[in-house]
Amino acid sequence: LPALSIRDLRKTYDNRVEALKGVSLDVQEGDFFALLGPNGAGKSTLIGVVSSLVNASGGRVEVFGVDIQKRRSQAMRLIGLVPQEINFNMFEKPLDICVNYAGFYGVPRAEAVQRAERELRAAQLWDKAQVMSRTLSGGMKRRLMIARAMMTEPRLLILDEPTAGVDIEIRRSMWKTLREVNARGSSVILTTHYLEEAESLCRNLAIIDHGRIIESGPMKQLLAKL
Ligand code: ADP
Ligand code: ADP
Repeated sequence: LPALSIRDLRKTYDNRVEALKGVSLDVQEGDFFALLGPNGAGKSTLIGVVSSLVNASGGRVEVFGVDIQKRRSQAMRLIGLVPQEINFNMFEKPLDICVNYAGFYGVPRAEAVQRAERELRAAQLWDKAQVMSRTLSGGMKRRLMIARAMMTEPRLLILDEPTAGVDIEIRRSMWKTLREVNARGSSVILTTHYLEEAESLCRNLAIIDHGRIIESGPMKQLLAKL
């Protein structure tokens, strides 16, 4: 069963912009998958549809075989989402941010505390668990976004341009955290406009432009073509 299966996905916004013009793709369980494309290609729209933030105009999306339109809440329980904007409360501590997030999703407190330690360690943030989040560096804040998303133990982690606008050192520290997430068994999909990022992290990728997939396949195979 693929982690994500998309068939003929279409999205036309109210202003008649056709952001997705019939996108199909499969992401296998355990994969680390990149959706690569320039600004305006349709990446955020695709992530928005998959995470139920944007209504599709047509087509079908399944997460581990669960149709996101027919069984939305069941599908959403399988997904962890890392949005582009940092949106946790800067006046809370990383440990509380993680524990409270899991609590919101119904994870019992003792279990949430255990998970928080595991995820904050994986994000190299355990020594910062009790500081005010406002004082974290840019890279630490981004890694906290990943740790928080992992608190629900998603089988599929989705990140929308997780490293947009950050310098190379911060990007590398995030790559390390993401590799660990994938190694622990979650499938990972990220959007990026950095080829270097896709190359360094991903086994498979699709290239999107003007709302269409123009190439897809194993990273190695596509690199040979470029
Ligand atoms: P990317 O993430 O690859 O930069 P987007 O999915 O954000 O691409 O955008 C794809 C196209 O859809 C662009 O032309 C963009 O201007 C348009 N678009 C995105 N969001 C909206 C929206 N809410 N309303 C209208 N048009 C939008
Ligand atoms: P991204 O950086 O993800 O490609 P943008 O910076 O283009 O997105 O857009 C930021 C926000 O504005 C998003 O919520 C997007 O949906 C919305 N948006 C983008 N393009 C348009 C558009 N042409 N009309 C209306 N809303 C838009």
